[in-house]
Amino acid sequence: MLVVMSHAATASEIAGVVDTIRDMGYEAREIPGKQRTAIGLIGNDGKVDSGRLEALPGVLQVIHVTQPYKQVSREWRPEPTVIALPNGTRIGGADTVLMAGPCSVESEAQILTAAHAVRAAGATVLRGGAFKPRTSPYAFQGLGLDGLKLLAEARAETGLAIVTEAMESAMVDLVAEYADIIQIGARNMQNYPLLRRAGQTGKPVLIKRGMAATIKELLLSAEYVLAEGNDQVILCERGVRGFDENTRNILDIAAVPVIHSLSHLPIIVDPSHGTGVRNKVLPMALAAVAAGADGLMIEVHPDPDHALSDGAQSLWPDQFRDLADQVRHVAAAVGRSIAALPPQPLP
Ligand code: PEP
Ligand code: MN
Repeated sequence: MLVVMSHAATASEIAGVVDTIRDMGYEAREIPGKQRTAIGLIGNDGKVDSGRLEALPGVLQVIHVTQPYKQVSREWRPEPTVIALPNGTRIGGADTVLMAGPCSVESEAQILTAAHAVRAAGATVLRGGAFKPRTSPYAFQGLGLDGLKLLAEARAETGLAIVTEAMESAMVDLVAEYADIIQIGARNMQNYPLLRRAGQTGKPVLIKRGMAATIKELLLSAEYVLAEGNDQVILCERGVRGFDENTRNILDIAAVPVIHSLSHLPIIVDPSHGTGVRNKVLPMALAAVAAGADGLMIEVHPDPDHALSDGAQSLWPDQFRDLADQVRHVAAAVGRSIAALPPQPLP
């Protein structure tokens, strides 16, 4: 439930509502807004009797949040959440943000080459896994801490922000030391202790949709992060398990407008894992941007034929440049722009 205060409500009237909510046995969370302050009531299982709160001075309106997720919902916060990264990238605003890079960090030369290529094409965020959730325990598992250090080196050289995955709670602090965005992978979307730990860092958290998860389940996973007091959450549609062999997953582009109507959080699309096939990435990237995606996450490798993971879906740098050029046109057609970092000085 959300208690909306009138424009002229005083600090003591706001405090009165907070005290009453606590007296009723619930938790109160103040949400200062541009027009007015609202106070969220959390910790209730069912509908709360709002009569006592409606009668308090300064209260304009009490809104019952009808969804099982609360702080994530549009009812809770009508304006879109915009996440600002240290390099100036803003996710959820006017820009469609390009995040790109290899599936895994493999070596210094590989990640630096990829970083320079995607930056030159217009990406502002570098992706790359240092801890990799592989289906087989015998497959390349990532470089671990060395991979995080290489990502930090790539950031220092290029100014790109870093998104990289944390696979377990015990590793969250380490990943948070290096990452600008902590990625929670599809396989971990419902790892609730991990979501809570990531939320506690206060850093932006990118949550990928589980491969058999409903949109409601994705939003409830995001609620775990917001429940820790961290509203810096980016959602990512990356395809759900299908029955056809032509693509690795079924990319659910309808999730973009659905999530925009249900939630104020930004939603990006990953057509690389969504299709699993290099030549399907471009059309689905364009479709995602046309549908209103706040960003794209694209796998790009300097030499995909020799990639240690996900080579078949990784673009060559030239293909990513073409993709970025075409995305720019589609973004403009739907009233969005692609913000790039300023050109890099020649060495
Ligand atoms: C990834 O981004 O490299 C990844 C493993 O993605 P997902 O969790 O969506 O499978
Ligand atoms: Mn991958």
